[in-house]
Order: sequence, then C-alpha cells, then structure tokens
Amino acid sequence: MNRVALSSWTGLPHTRIYPALEVELDAENPFAQTEATLLARGSGRSYGDVCLPSDTAVLTSRLRRIHSFDTEHGIITAEAGISLAALLRITIPRGWTLPVLPGTGAVTVGGAIANDIHGKSHHWAGTFGRWVRQIELLRSDGRIRCSPCDNAELLAATIGGAWANGHHHLG
Ligand SMILES: Cc1cc2nc3c(=O)[nH]c(=O)nc-3n(C[C@H](O)[C@H](O)[C@H](O)COP(=O)(O)OP(=O)(O)OC[C@H]3O[C@@H](n4cnc5c(N)ncnc54)[C@H](O)[C@@H]3O)c2cc1C
Repeated sequence: MNRVALSSWTGLPHTRIYPALEVELDAENPFAQTEATLLARGSGRSYGDVCLPSDTAVLTSRLRRIHSFDTEHGIITAEAGISLAALLRITIPRGWTLPVLPGTGAVTVGGAIANDIHGKSHHWAGTFGRWVRQIELLRSDGRIRCSPCDNAELLAATIGGAWANGHHHLG
C-alpha cells in the first residue's frame, strides 16, 4: 500500500500522511483484499474534511477515461476521477457544456456526485446529481449499477452521500 500526504482545500485539519489504495477500472477489486476503513478521494477540493479518511484513502486519479459521448443527446459516460474541466475540454468543442458548474473545474465527477454540488445555474438546473443517469458503484462484494430503474435507492443514497455516510465531522 502507498502512503500519500492529503489535506482539504482549506488546509484544515492539517496535511497528514495516509495509507492509500489506487483504483483502476480493469484491475482486481482492491476492496475485497483489505480490512481497512476506506474513503474515496477525488481532487481534494472540499472545504472541510469530507475528503480526508479516518484510515485509508482510495485514490481515483487513474479513473480518468471518457467511455462514450452521445453528441446528439448530450450524454457522456466517464470514469469518476475525471475532472469537470477535462470533460469540458471534450464537450465544448462539440457544442455542449455541463449544466452544473462549480467555482472550480478541478473537482472530479465522483466528488461532484458525492457532494451533489451546485452552480450558478441552480435556479433552473438544480444540483449535479439531477443530471446523473446512471452510476456504477464498486464495493467489496462487486460492482453494482444504479439508475432510476435499477437500485434506485442506492443511487439516491449516493448522490449527496458524502453527508449521509458518517465520514464528515467538523474541526
Ligand atoms: C475554488 C472552489 C470553488 C468551489 N465552488 C463550488 C460551487 O460553486 N458549488 C459547490 O457545490 N461546491 C463548490 N466547491 C466545492 C467542491 O465542488 C466540492 O467539495 C466537491 O465535492 C469537490 O470534489 P473533489 O473531486 O475535489 O472531491 P473530494 O474533495 O476529494 O471529495 C469530496 C467527497 O466526495 C467523495 N468522493 C470523491 N470521489 C468519489 C468517488 N469516486 N466515489 C465515491 N465518493 C467519492 C469523497 O469521499 C468525499 O466525501 C468549490 C471548491 C473550491 C475549492
């Protein structure tokens, strides 16, 4: 297992060294091989400590691929560690933007979903999660597809789930 120095955007609490696992889409499920308490990490742009693990970080920086882009309907399928800025570099030349954009493009798709972020378009677009059609969750017991039709409760629990999973605490 690697060790990495992690902090939140505000630097509070202070930077610490954490054990870290790296996730790759096609590799063996790393969660099945550890007893550690894990927390996924996007770009670390959260103001508070929701991006800091109590034990081991799961780094998603290798999950950066775009799998498909339907330019007729504006539907993009991408991995969770890709940044919104990287998505925009692909979509804008093809005439599409993201309906919800926060104050920085550095956040990842995974972080945008977990915190169900908002942008200046909130009055008409709502939050990021409103535009998510399907996600695939990687768990220690395998992968699970979630959409409004399949595992809808799990989808709803994951969008904005950073605030419901007990990982956050202030201070
Ligand atoms: C300059 C600046 C401007 C901002 N402007 C806005 C704004 O306008 N609107 C707004 O809503 N927010 C805004 N934010 C906050 C930011 O959008 C959120 O904190 C966002 O969640 C950060 O994403 P991240 O990729 O950095 O995730 P991290 O900070 O690394 O993680 C955030 C949460 O997501 C979880 N997570 C990350 N990736 C995954 C994954 N693949 N699977 C499961 N869980 C995952 C983490 O466990 C953690 O709980 C801003 C932040 C900054 C620094």
